[in-house]
Amino acid sequence: MESIAQEVVSLPHEGLRRTISEEAISIKGFLETSFVDWPGKVVSVLFLPQCNFRCPFCHNHSLIINPEGHEDIPRTYIMARLAELEGWVDGVCISGGEPTIHPRLPALIAEIKGLGLLVKLDTNGSRPHVLQSLVEEGLVDCVAMDIKAPLDEMSYARAAGAPVDLEKIRKSICFLQKGKVEYQFRTTVVPALHKEEDLLHLAHHLSGSSSLTLQNFRPADPLDPQLKGTSPYPEEWLKEMGEKIGSILHH
Ligand code: SF4
Repeated sequence: MESIAQEVVSLPHEGLRRTISEEAISIKGFLETSFVDWPGKVVSVLFLPQCNFRCPFCHNHSLIINPEGHEDIPRTYIMARLAELEGWVDGVCISGGEPTIHPRLPALIAEIKGLGLLVKLDTNGSRPHVLQSLVEEGLVDCVAMDIKAPLDEMSYARAAGAPVDLEKIRKSICFLQKGKVEYQFRTTVVPALHKEEDLLHLAHHLSGSSSLTLQNFRPADPLDPQLKGTSPYPEEWLKEMGEKIGSILHH
């Protein structure tokens, strides 16, 4: 996920600000074009507030712990801009926060699909029933699921900053592995949370999956101040781990 603090362009039109329904989903960030959120595609990115996790390395934590600090961007404005971007962007990535906690997410996606755009969903996988129904209704074209740690209670709770029902995480993984939709698994790697054996253990659990992408921890502004300024793993180490993981997944 991009960092909302650094990357997002939000250009609300004052005239449109009051036209959105009170009940509509709250959108806190709108990045018009991204070349990195969906490999091979140019996408706009929407950032939804709130999350049921508190990952200590989260770099979008202001959306999680202080959503009121960000003004809503009117959906009407966003839809109008997306229509203008036709032919330039391939789709929209819905990120956050955790998008699946919002009851009106399907309606938002349906509106985007109505513009003829592809949709990618970023999720922590904690709501498998929502994920499954979005895929089965043909509302999402790609899912990126963050897997926080090896699938044991203690490691996962530590990396997610909250107790996690691992059965739900497993269900989301199993559902995506069926290949009904393009998917990516991703893990943000933090030296204080992940050792080599943790990542290899996770890779064995995900054996047969299309991919597990390792993302390096960004120490500039994590949710947990104790992680701020701590060193991430060297890129070379991460690359070697990526190769080891690849050979386990495709063994
Ligand atoms: S799952 Fe973790 S990293 Fe993602 S938005 Fe929630 S707290 Fe942040």
